[in-house]
Amino acid sequence: MAEPDFYLSDAQRELQRALREFVANEIAPLATRCDADEHFPVELFPKMGALGYLGLGFPEASGGSGGSCLDYAILCEELARGSGGIALGIYVHMALACAALESFGSPDLRRAWLPGAFAGERIGGWAFAEAGAGSDAGAIATRAVADGDAFVINGSKTFITNAPIADFLVVVASTAPEKRLKGLSLFLVECDRPGFRVEASLSKLGVRASEMGTLAFEDCRVPRGNLIGRENGGFLDALATLTLGRIASAAFATGVARSAYEATLGYVAERVQFGQPIGSFQAVRFGVADMALQIEAARLLCHRAAAAADRGLPHGREASMAKLYATEACTRIVERALHYHGAAGYMSESPIQRYYRDCKVFELGEGSSELQRNMIARELGL
Ligand SMILES: Cc1cc2nc3c(=O)[nH]c(=O)nc-3n(C[C@H](O)[C@H](O)[C@H](O)COP(=O)(O)OP(=O)(O)OC[C@H]3O[C@@H](n4cnc5c(N)ncnc54)[C@H](O)[C@@H]3O)c2cc1C
Repeated sequence: MAEPDFYLSDAQRELQRALREFVANEIAPLATRCDADEHFPVELFPKMGALGYLGLGFPEASGGSGGSCLDYAILCEELARGSGGIALGIYVHMALACAALESFGSPDLRRAWLPGAFAGERIGGWAFAEAGAGSDAGAIATRAVADGDAFVINGSKTFITNAPIADFLVVVASTAPEKRLKGLSLFLVECDRPGFRVEASLSKLGVRASEMGTLAFEDCRVPRGNLIGRENGGFLDALATLTLGRIASAAFATGVARSAYEATLGYVAERVQFGQPIGSFQAVRFGVADMALQIEAARLLCHRAAAAADRGLPHGREASMAKLYATEACTRIVERALHYHGAAGYMSESPIQRYYRDCKVFELGEGSSELQRNMIARELGL
């Protein structure tokens, strides 16, 4: 498909080309096996680190590779085109764990953790969700109580991507329960810290190449220096400023949708029924045209939000619109891809069924579609 990439710089086009080669050689060949085994290929982390991909969009002063949010969006789309699950594991590391640390961590914490994280030597995770707290962050029950120059954390977390493979987690805990949302703080917790353990690995419908677990904190003592950002304000600050995750979600969804679309374009040209390729039937042609249209619209919304972020312009609404549109479009596109592949797409060996299982999560994570609509409406003054 001709891409609406006239606005990309030569360096960004080169980045896109190099990433496509990397994904074709290093990620796509692993996608089916890692999905079947529910296994994240951790050896990808140092490989990506050595190429500077894990530090993309982060300042060189912190050990990052420099580059822009738009560069990062290009990275996410290409990774997801290879494997939604592998892309998810990398996204949680970069867009949630490293981004929170970079934006709000103390110089000591940043120095201690970011260079290793960008090199792929240390894997990060984001521990927010709990059994009773998903969309409603104010319901978080994990407690961190100040005790001298430390905080003592008690509680549990669930649905935490990278938990079984992580070296450190950015943990959201309540430091002032009566204040609900305004009493949440962020902490860096090293995964070998006494009082912390990964309790169970969780099996899931899609994005199975990412690994997920539940966490338990029992009198887990972390130094005050591990506080990321403001006590009682760290989470709200992160919520207000960390748009990277929503932009990344939009790019992931675009990448998965593109895989499904490209496979469909080839399939409908070859599959013959009633003496002609099914792609010559108007019903199918219209459907494939709509797929292409939605992918380009999703990418443009995503890149607009990224470009606004790069220019220091307000972009919260743009990020929500991109995330909402791209993730819902991805689900529609993948559903059509499966439909046009017929039974062949439904078979376990077909990547189409994997895309079908992978796509739905993008609508749920990083604030579900309903939360994005709420945010957009709020920005519209409603
Ligand atoms: C594959 C995967 C990976 C994940 N990785 C992580 C991770 O690394 N770290 C982490 O912390 N969490 C992770 N999560 C959890 C994720 O953060 C939650 O799924 C998300 O916050 C939504 O919470 P929930 O699933 O409990 O759904 P709920 O909040 O229970 O929502 C259920 C439904 O109710 C709707 N709803 C809720 N509130 C409203 C409202 N106000 N108005 C309208 N509708 C509403 C939602 O849109 C949704 O459709 C992951 C989840 C998945 C599936």
